Amino acid sequence: MAYDFDLYVIGAGSGGVRAARFAAGYGAKVAVAESRYLGGTCVNVGCVPKKLLVYGAHFAEDFEQSAGFGWSLGEAKFDWATLIANKDREINRLNGIYRNLLVNSGVTLHEGHAKLVDPHAVEVNGQRYSAERILVAVGGWPLIPQIPGHEHAISSNEAFFLKELPKRVLVVGGGYIAVEFAGIFHGLGAETTLLYRGDLFLRGFDGAVRKHLQEELTKRGMHLQFNADIERIEKQADGSLNVTLKDGRQLQADCVFYATGRRPMLDNLGLENTRVKLDKKGFVEVDELYQTTEPSILAIGDVIGRVQLTPVALAEGMAVARRLFKPEQYRQVDYRMIPTAVFSLPNIGTVGLTEEQAREEGYEVQVFESRFRPMKLTLTECQERTLMKLVVDAKTDKVLGCHMVGPEAGEIVQGLAIALKAGATKRDFDETIGVHPTAAEEFVTMRTPVAG
Ligand SMILES: Cc1cc2nc3c(=O)[nH]c(=O)nc-3n(C[C@H](O)[C@H](O)[C@H](O)COP(=O)(O)OP(=O)(O)OC[C@H]3O[C@@H](n4cnc5c(N)ncnc54)[C@H](O)[C@@H]3O)c2cc1C
Repeated sequence: MAYDFDLYVIGAGSGGVRAARFAAGYGAKVAVAESRYLGGTCVNVGCVPKKLLVYGAHFAEDFEQSAGFGWSLGEAKFDWATLIANKDREINRLNGIYRNLLVNSGVTLHEGHAKLVDPHAVEVNGQRYSAERILVAVGGWPLIPQIPGHEHAISSNEAFFLKELPKRVLVVGGGYIAVEFAGIFHGLGAETTLLYRGDLFLRGFDGAVRKHLQEELTKRGMHLQFNADIERIEKQADGSLNVTLKDGRQLQADCVFYATGRRPMLDNLGLENTRVKLDKKGFVEVDELYQTTEPSILAIGDVIGRVQLTPVALAEGMAVARRLFKPEQYRQVDYRMIPTAVFSLPNIGTVGLTEEQAREEGYEVQVFESRFRPMKLTLTECQERTLMKLVVDAKTDKVLGCHMVGPEAGEIVQGLAIALKAGATKRDFDETIGVHPTAAEEFVTMRTPVAG
């Protein structure tokens, strides 16, 4: 049977664009449908605008610290509207780049909502298109719990477009998005409280990293409230929000920001017209080849709920394109040793196993740790400290994990990830000459294991 397309991709986000472009490059006839914004979550309401806001927030401490180096500045003033307008302009530019990338690689772009009408057909803007294979790359969407007054809360989607910087912000959640936005609001001058129902934020990160960040954020004057949760939110006559916690306490805020989880974006997708199954958590179920339970339909990225990060969606998109249209170049995505950063202030950078995971997996663990005041701060009043940690397998000497909290941790960990992927041992680290004077050189100069 002749189809309109070899591959029809639903969603022009990180994974969808990568799969569509590469498939077209390998000679396939490809279309992609996008209902909202080219580039998806990452470009429009995720990684990119967030990092721009983090840069914006970082200037506050740069101005303060510059005094130690002899600078005197006038009173620093911040204008939220300028930052948001400039951010929007940059995102528009990136949207254009994504459009060109798709069109120049020969992909047909359909701007509209795509609905599956059967295992080989989608409908977009009233038109029906058939395809031999359909790739679902529809991403995710923020989830705000339905507590009384939830309509007064915002998610990351709205935070990027606030008309003004709220004076008092209550950020709810313990994941990386909550921690990053708390840092943004705090850095830009809002009185910020981070509220999380667990004992300590950033579950899954190394314990020393979590505690270190807790101490640093507290030093900076951010209010951290753990073992706390919201019962209801009420809007006051003056527009402010009165928040009642489950333990009866009341907090006042101008903005309540929820970052407590994301769901797969399956709204009106038409999965019921196919045999695609969902897993226990509601994400699209796929096998190791990203094949759903409907033979003609594949799925990648946040909608399959594996590792919800852009570079992972890109790798999955590439794997699908290669397997289908360039099988001789196919390589399975390797989910081990995925480096990640949390763009809190200070940053976290991490790759490999945490100390807790390594012990749970039965390794005999050696831990190396260094805590120090970064050189850049020695002429300033700032008492921030950096943490670096290596988790090593005592039997084989292999470095199992590298963890850092401190300036540029995200940049530093990328190089370490290559070393760990290549199977570097602690001896390899020790024999590597440092770059002096940097913070990163500490990773090759830690000699004595922490007594444990
Ligand atoms: C606030 C925030 C910060 C983040 N920061 C980072 C970070 O620093 N680093 C990192 O690696 N990751 C980060 N992420 C995660 C990253 O954005 C996602 O992992 C990534 O975007 C997933 O790509 P995807 O292709 O699966 O989906 P998406 O990028 O979400 O793309 C899905 C696309 O499909 C479209 N779509 C949905 N349904 C339909 C339909 N029926 N028809 C047509 N189009 C449809 C959507 O409009 C969207 O454009 C962040 C996420 C958030 C929310």
